[in-house]
Amino acid sequence: MSASDKPVIVLSRCLAGENVRYDGSNAYDPFVEKLLKYVDIIPVCPEVEIGLPVPRPKIIVVKENGYKVYQPETHKDLTQPLKDFSYKFLSNLPQTDGFLLKSKSPSCGFSGTKTYKTPEGKGYIGRRKGLFAMAVKEKFPYHPAADELMLKDFYKKYIFLTKLYLFFYYRIMETEQFIREFEDILILFSKKGTQEFKKNPTYQNFLRIFSRNISEKWLNNKIPDFKGKILTSSEHKKYIIFPEELIKE
Ligand code: SF4
Repeated sequence: MSASDKPVIVLSRCLAGENVRYDGSNAYDPFVEKLLKYVDIIPVCPEVEIGLPVPRPKIIVVKENGYKVYQPETHKDLTQPLKDFSYKFLSNLPQTDGFLLKSKSPSCGFSGTKTYKTPEGKGYIGRRKGLFAMAVKEKFPYHPAADELMLKDFYKKYIFLTKLYLFFYYRIMETEQFIREFEDILILFSKKGTQEFKKNPTYQNFLRIFSRNISEKWLNNKIPDFKGKILTSSEHKKYIIFPEELIKE
């Protein structure tokens, strides 16, 4: 089976079960284990890629002229190596349908990354993103991108999986057939964007369908009791375009 027979995601190596975390552990996640049956992965561990060993002293995100990454125990500023790696890796990616990264990480976190005022880790200012995740959002703003914590929420998981399979089917299908089959679902993301895409079906117009985030409230407005209906009513099964096992709790 070739890579294009399944959606392709960039996946944090620790979520794939590899012992690459700072303390030598992994971040096994039961949903990721299920997902692995259905996708091809491009594994990545930005911290190992820039030459950090396993185990290693922790690194932290610091808000200082933008965002930087320091290793307090060694006083090293690892910002540039991490940025250089991220730029190179993301610029050379083969076709990719989405990103699933580890939450809270100073490199991979799309959410929950503790951020400080000083390189020593003093002055906690809140939770932001990791540096690799920031680069992903900058280079691929419309692609499905989540961490394992976001996917504990039914709606976020539904949106992630739906986008992932839309990107995948767009990549492998004739555009006309793609529009015929998935118009109802594309409209969930943007009616206006879908109309533009139908008139002028370019890749840029496909991406623009995903230019705003949709929420639980939005989905429930479109289909009252969205979660219940999607899971139980055969009339609404057309809104599930990915293996049903992935959304069942
Ligand atoms: S979160 Fe990212 S950088 Fe940290 S161990 Fe996992 S893959 Fe590596």
